[in-house]
Amino acid sequence: MISPLAAGIYEGLGAAAGAGLAVGAYAYASLWPGSRIFGAALTAPARPGELALTFDDGPNATWTPRLLDILAQHEVRATFFLLGSRAAAQPELVRRIAAAGHTIGNHSWSHPNLARTRASHVREELRQTSETLQQIIGAPVKFFRPPFGARRPVVFRMARAMGMEPVLWNAMTSDWSEPSADRIAKQLMNKIDGLQRRGRAANIVLHDGGHRDAAANRAPSVAAAELLLERYAKSHRFVTLDAWC
Ligand SMILES: [Zn+2]
Repeated sequence: MISPLAAGIYEGLGAAAGAGLAVGAYAYASLWPGSRIFGAALTAPARPGELALTFDDGPNATWTPRLLDILAQHEVRATFFLLGSRAAAQPELVRRIAAAGHTIGNHSWSHPNLARTRASHVREELRQTSETLQQIIGAPVKFFRPPFGARRPVVFRMARAMGMEPVLWNAMTSDWSEPSADRIAKQLMNKIDGLQRRGRAANIVLHDGGHRDAAANRAPSVAAAELLLERYAKSHRFVTLDAWC
């Protein structure tokens, strides 16, 4: 069985990646963020009141700078899971993210489904991205988030061997396909408040880039991030993932 929430994640794969996946226990275990069958990953600790904003699939030439401005206005630091291919094309923007004090993580080079990628290619996706990011920012990359949350044991083993902690999430909505910032923010607030009631911190995913489209319009996601910053500025503490390791 795939729960409604897991089904949402599964749909999140999109037609191209999802079409080839058999629906069943393997797909469930390899895609559902809560599944520990394929190895433990960092989601969020039992620290209610702490929020980690994380942004995937960037950098994006238009929306990442706008997001950086908003984060700076709120004096909040976040975590950016960058695609190596996009980072290599925009090293100045990557340096700007790092210089502002944000944490930079590895989100693979080209965003394949790593549950279905042969091991030697997985290694190249991770290695090339970490090397590129480290050359640009001059510091080691300590976090890895698998594209689509898809993984199998070897993927996390390789990430750890390269010095990276695998990271999933516990608060996400389909921000990449939702045009209303208000709806994105409201759905995330419901999840964040639910986690708070259960005594957990929130590891929130939004997308400042698009893995299929380098120029994806991320206006709704960036505006939703601003709504979250405004809503939780006084009651919560925004942290980067470094705070949880
Ligand atoms: Zn992604």
